Amino acid sequence: MIQITISHKIIPDVQKQISSCYNFVTVICGLAFGGLLFTTFRIWRYAMRKRHYLKAAFVGGQLITGRHKAAIQDSLVMIDHGGIIYAGERNYDMAPSLEGYEVIDVTGKTIMPGLIDSHLHFSGNLNDNDSDWVREPLLQKQVMAVQQAHECLENGLTTVGEISRFGIPIRDMTNTGQMQGPRVIATGRGFCATASHGDSHNCSIEEVNAGHPWAEAVDGPWELRKAVRRRLRECPDAIKIWATGGGIYRWDTSRDHHYTYEEIRAVVEESAMRGIPVWSHTYGATTPSVDAGADFIIHGFEINESDMEKMYKKGIYFCPTINFLPAWLSTYPPQYIPGVHDKYEGRTLIEKELARLYDNVNKAYKMGVIITVGSDSFNSDSTPYGVTAIGEIHRFVDSCGMSEMDAIIAGTANGARALGCYHITGSITRGKNADMLVINGDPLKSIYDINVDNMDMIIKDGEEVLRYKGK
Ligand SMILES: [Zn+2]
Repeated sequence: MIQITISHKIIPDVQKQISSCYNFVTVICGLAFGGLLFTTFRIWRYAMRKRHYLKAAFVGGQLITGRHKAAIQDSLVMIDHGGIIYAGERNYDMAPSLEGYEVIDVTGKTIMPGLIDSHLHFSGNLNDNDSDWVREPLLQKQVMAVQQAHECLENGLTTVGEISRFGIPIRDMTNTGQMQGPRVIATGRGFCATASHGDSHNCSIEEVNAGHPWAEAVDGPWELRKAVRRRLRECPDAIKIWATGGGIYRWDTSRDHHYTYEEIRAVVEESAMRGIPVWSHTYGATTPSVDAGADFIIHGFEINESDMEKMYKKGIYFCPTINFLPAWLSTYPPQYIPGVHDKYEGRTLIEKELARLYDNVNKAYKMGVIITVGSDSFNSDSTPYGVTAIGEIHRFVDSCGMSEMDAIIAGTANGARALGCYHITGSITRGKNADMLVINGDPLKSIYDINVDNMDMIIKDGEEVLRYKGK
């Protein structure tokens, strides 16, 4: 039998060691905590140094909140520390005091939420050539992508839904105040099938993988699941797929299915497990994406009434992207569909195709599908950032039968809902971030009053992006 004895002499030594060890740990923890506080303070001070929040009260203007179907006349909007403090009637008893606020008289002008373009690409492209946009040097594209982000904000877009390899870092650098830009809801590169719309057929597969600005070719349900998992490591806000063709190449006609139902379903299931939404490009067949459970249909050029009904019931958002089409179709002409195009007026196939598309948007609008504004801007020349999105708002009114107020809501609140950021932006509401425009005019009387030259002020997160003085 082994007897274990502990010498009493040892105990004080152990206590001493424990005590010195405890002191050592306390000192280390104290230093670590102090270091953490110091670092937090430095980050906060650095971030604050870059912010120049307006403390301002906008008095007397017409207020379009983005939440209400009627505008508020003779309004008051107060902003401070990046947020909205008050938005409502000017002579409301409970309105806060204006003391300490810069008072800005906006009589005869309109205050509305900052515009939201729910579909564009910070591609960095210089033109619309499908080989050039792969082969242009990556560093050049990165520089131009930053410039494209600036162009958005300077033209009134305070939030954008973005698909490209450059959007995620632009989002992060904007959020931390390192650069000025719109709020970016980014997917990173989307997924397309081999020989699909995002795969530039005239470049080698190696070139496409190395340099395509917005797409990556991935085939098959399990490879797609793996690709979604890979993309999640980059911290995107949504997953983008090209479910159909796009009309650039011989075997890429707009109407073709490119991903099978099983492939779309795999992406949706994999994304749903992590709670990330799926955005689906459909030029042709929209039904497989709607049935598979995509959250957001982009383009939907051949959306039918059964798709619309399902989208209405399931709350699937619809971004028709009609305004970039005259430019796009003149480079990549539509496919003539006998018995369909003949029903529409127009001197050319492009005009008939446009009439057909406008009619489809009108049907979806009447059915109550939630419609958003999307420019599909992908370079500054053919689809200028901001300007193309504003043109989409105009087209909704002049070609698709939408009311002025509903077109504005499509370009603000609906966009925020589709992009999952309605809790912070998309309407002028107390407690939300101060993303807003002062428009010199009344867009409820003429929708064309929303244009870049009429923007007296552009404010994002309570910071002044632009102010035309003396108007
Ligand atoms: Zn696009």
